[in-house]
Amino acid sequence: MKSNALNFSGGPGALPETVLEQTRVAIDALPETGISILGMSHRSDWFRSILDEAELNLRILLGISDDYAITFQQGGSSLQFAMIPMNFAATGFGPPEYVTSGYWSSRATAEAAKVTERKVAWDGHATGYRQLPTLDELDISGSAAYLHYVTNETVEGLQFPVCEEAAQVPLIADMSSDFLSKPIRPDAYSMMYAHAQKNLGPSGVTVVVVKRSLLERIPDGLPAILDFRTHVSHGSNYNTPPVFAIYVLTLITRWLRFDVGGLDAMQSINERKARRLYDTLDALEGAVTIHANRRWRSQMNVAFTFGDSRLDNAFIEAARERGIVGLEGHRSIGGLRVSLYNAVTEQAVDILANALTEFSLQRA
Ligand SMILES: *Cc1c(COP(=O)(O)O)cnc(C)c1O
Repeated sequence: MKSNALNFSGGPGALPETVLEQTRVAIDALPETGISILGMSHRSDWFRSILDEAELNLRILLGISDDYAITFQQGGSSLQFAMIPMNFAATGFGPPEYVTSGYWSSRATAEAAKVTERKVAWDGHATGYRQLPTLDELDISGSAAYLHYVTNETVEGLQFPVCEEAAQVPLIADMSSDFLSKPIRPDAYSMMYAHAQKNLGPSGVTVVVVKRSLLERIPDGLPAILDFRTHVSHGSNYNTPPVFAIYVLTLITRWLRFDVGGLDAMQSINERKARRLYDTLDALEGAVTIHANRRWRSQMNVAFTFGDSRLDNAFIEAARERGIVGLEGHRSIGGLRVSLYNAVTEQAVDILANALTEFSLQRA
């Protein structure tokens, strides 16, 4: 196995070997154009066809109707934290509501406060971000401009197990770390977004799916690049887009459609991977503590600790000797984190699970 195959990093995440192979070729010369991907014009017909294909593949994989525009933007999900309130905290509606359930949603909540009055619909800080609310239990005003939440808290390893809906309020979801990991019901959302570097490619591009009717609420006068309508009307080619990142993202969508066989198949694989890891950790009960409460365990990111940083670091070292990398927990909570993004294979999870068990037996 190539060492890259044992990359469990929280992001940028692992990419499939076959996509890396095609990327290597494309850096030399794209088969279709004979020119390196790094020198391809963003105004070329070839790149227009890549943008169109990426959009089409996403529509087919997720079942996204033409009621939604799909754009590819820069600035990562952090730029979306700022653009969303600038565009959609429209006058005539109540303040937007934010679910603060972990590191990333609290960043989104804090950014919104700089732009608009906003409410915190739920806050998990006091309980250490170990659980999530169900959205239909939240007491939110029907006149709220929107409700924002994060479907998978990447740092703490918390995930909403089902597609959450909130009555009567446009729902905006940051899906950065579980987009394309399973089927969703797009109609439940007014907007969903995900940067590429966790599950769909290299960093540099963010997929933004927004209901066309929501675009009508955008106030005039925003700088063009911060106005969602600019990206829609220019077909994601307003200024120079990240050609390379969008190309690799397109390869990932092809891989999902034609190699994996769609998101139902991807979900089955991801469920098996998560079960293998959680079963292993549960069997080590007493030796390891999983950060998330059981009901809210993420299928994508598993945060846990052996109880002290000396042991955690000893495991990171032992794993490194086997070629396993990317296990360090996020700097905000420490410990260990295993990310099980789409490109992480079942074989890789097996190797990691065995390493965890052996390490614990040696310490017992
Ligand atoms: C990693 C992450 C972010 C940060 O994204 P950037 O592209 O680095 O700005 C935001 N939201 C979630 C859920 C994440 O996992």
